Amino acid sequence: MTDSPLKIRRPLYLASTRTNCWRCGAGMPVVCLIAPQVEGAEGEVCVLSEVRKLPDDVLIFIQRRFPSFRLKYSKTVQASYYANTCPKCGVLSGDFYLHAEPGAPFFPETEEDAKRLTLEEIPMSGSVGVEASPGMGVGDLILAHATRRNAAQVTAPNHR
Ligand SMILES: [Zn+2]
Repeated sequence: MTDSPLKIRRPLYLASTRTNCWRCGAGMPVVCLIAPQVEGAEGEVCVLSEVRKLPDDVLIFIQRRFPSFRLKYSKTVQASYYANTCPKCGVLSGDFYLHAEPGAPFFPETEEDAKRLTLEEIPMSGSVGVEASPGMGVGDLILAHATRRNAAQVTAPNHR
């Protein structure tokens, strides 16, 4: 993990899918952030994990949709980060397992794997600073094949 924030320009995407809690087996949503425009990444699409700091409006956008994405202490990395937690038993599903193993939710190996993810652009006005670990390699596959959802669809009929 790096200490200085990544400088991210639009667009910033929220990727989501569902999995099962490793402890209690309950179905749970898992999310991560995908940033195609990170300063210093030379055009590589970055899949962010172990997010430690986010601008408030970005965090609110995510938590409104996924309240179980919460700041939690991880014994594995010995630090707190915004992690996917089980809505039923509260246990953290570590980013290592969601990102690092080929075939994991955020490490698609095939187009079919990537299609299981849903992408939504997070509205933001300028560039933002995010403290996180940028992973490179699978972002292009995700951006090319994940199901896109735009804000218009989400705010449709019965929203507020
Ligand atoms: Zn659970």
